[in-house]
Amino acid sequence: MNGLMMQQPLLISALLRHAERHHGEREIVSRRVEGDIHRYTYRDLAARARRMARAMEALGVASGDRVATLAWNGYRHMELYYAVSGSGAVLHTLNPRLHPDQLAWIVGDAQDGVLCFDSTFLPLVEAVAARLPSVRHFVLMSDRAHMPAETGIPGLLCYEDLCDGHGDDYAWPEFDENRASSLCYTSGTTGNPKGVLYSHRSTVLHTMAGALPDVLDMSARETVLPVVPMFHVNAWGIPYMACMVGAKLVFPGPALDGKSLYELFEAEGVTLTAGVPTVWQALLAHVEANDLHFSTMRRTVIGGAACPPAMLDAFQEHHGVEVLHAWGMTELSPIGTACSLKPELAALGGKQRLAIQSKQGRVPFGVDMKIVDADGGELPWDGKTSGELLVRGHWVLAKYLRGPDPCIDGWFPTGDVSTIDAYGYMQITDRAKDVIKSGGEWIGSIDLENIAMAHPKVAMAACIGVPHPKWDERPLLVIVPKPGEEPGRDEMLAHFEGKVARWWIPDDVVLVDAIPLGATGKMQKNRLREQFRQHLMPNA
Ligand code: AMP
Repeated sequence: MNGLMMQQPLLISALLRHAERHHGEREIVSRRVEGDIHRYTYRDLAARARRMARAMEALGVASGDRVATLAWNGYRHMELYYAVSGSGAVLHTLNPRLHPDQLAWIVGDAQDGVLCFDSTFLPLVEAVAARLPSVRHFVLMSDRAHMPAETGIPGLLCYEDLCDGHGDDYAWPEFDENRASSLCYTSGTTGNPKGVLYSHRSTVLHTMAGALPDVLDMSARETVLPVVPMFHVNAWGIPYMACMVGAKLVFPGPALDGKSLYELFEAEGVTLTAGVPTVWQALLAHVEANDLHFSTMRRTVIGGAACPPAMLDAFQEHHGVEVLHAWGMTELSPIGTACSLKPELAALGGKQRLAIQSKQGRVPFGVDMKIVDADGGELPWDGKTSGELLVRGHWVLAKYLRGPDPCIDGWFPTGDVSTIDAYGYMQITDRAKDVIKSGGEWIGSIDLENIAMAHPKVAMAACIGVPHPKWDERPLLVIVPKPGEEPGRDEMLAHFEGKVARWWIPDDVVLVDAIPLGATGKMQKNRLREQFRQHLMPNA
């Protein structure tokens, strides 16, 4: 049959090419690690990304090879997003908050060949470099003037030297849109880090859907500041969406405290931002303590953890900033649902509106969802019945980088427990998976339990996440002592020192006579979570 449409693969490089040709003048502003402000345009970004693509080629990076980053949100990180993926290699964004042992394991599992990092992380990289045999080149994302005089990393390369050393006459290659583009590890479902590999196709489709009015509503008229890190599921896709629509981008670098963010919002006329509730707690506290107001900010996207109704209320009623509550996962690139209002609900006000906006929202085209009972039977969308949430779609993981296929009949089990109402709004009610999320980052409860169990006075240990006013959730250690023993709090917590990252150490320890067990002998952590709900929220 004649008359078919053109076949153009959906490639990440096409987003950058579009931004360069059609939004070349739009600015990208970054607060650097050094504290100063850097600004340039999409035109500059595109030229430097091509230079870095050449530089990577010269370092021997071939198609499919992994290039890792340990970096804040900034223009050099953005250049690598496009240089690496655009050339056919795989960008692997590492989470610097992980314990060095975990980082070394992840780099080995991914077989990263190059590691690019911000100077903040120089001590961390120096400490683990000897344990990263796959890494052939280490690149400090800095200029010559900021290179260390001495370092424990042999042959350390300078990012700006690499960029200067190559021309921008690089032509982005064309290849199959199903080729891998980027890689992110998550320990969100079982506690063990697993690689989620995105493709060019999944990324571009996610970008197109994510920018829609009922999702992030991104356009050339916005000035967007992603607080969500570029090492956390590609900053929720904002670095791609911004290129697609030509939005001005503002990158905060490492300064994520309330004061620094507020000053950047005001100085650059930020209209849209995105991040986890913990960040907004700090921002709201700063704004309220200093009697400030937002002069340009219109909307904020809150996700990664449930947005408390009080936060919705504070932004909307006190500061005139509309909140979009969203839910997603590393395995979903990450956007799963966003809570924009359907016309039937848009007229609601007060508490009713807050109740809807507190839900995690509805799916855009490209994702489908259902809730199921323990036998996999689909449950009704009545807003009351809860079951495990399963999803599928164009940007939902089919398989982890390694390990068994997690999907059930083509549906990915999220490990979240939720309801869905008659309008299709999903609300998370619990978590089936055994992990704790604190300030947007995962803590492995099983790792903590194993450490606790190794203590000579402990017979049984459960580690649960309980609500916390600042961090959303913090670990609480519940232990059954051995007969005749009474381990103290400090003694137990000291036992974790040096074995896990400091922020993983539980906030408190409670001693109990018994931990409730289910029919199969599994600890019923949902009952413990219920029992200790208020433990770290005494005034709630
Ligand atoms: P990550 O893969 O680190 O992005 O974590 C994804 C998980 O974070 C989800 O499976 C949920 O358990 C949790 N999560 C993300 N967004 C929300 C939200 N808006 N409300 C409640 N939990 C959320």
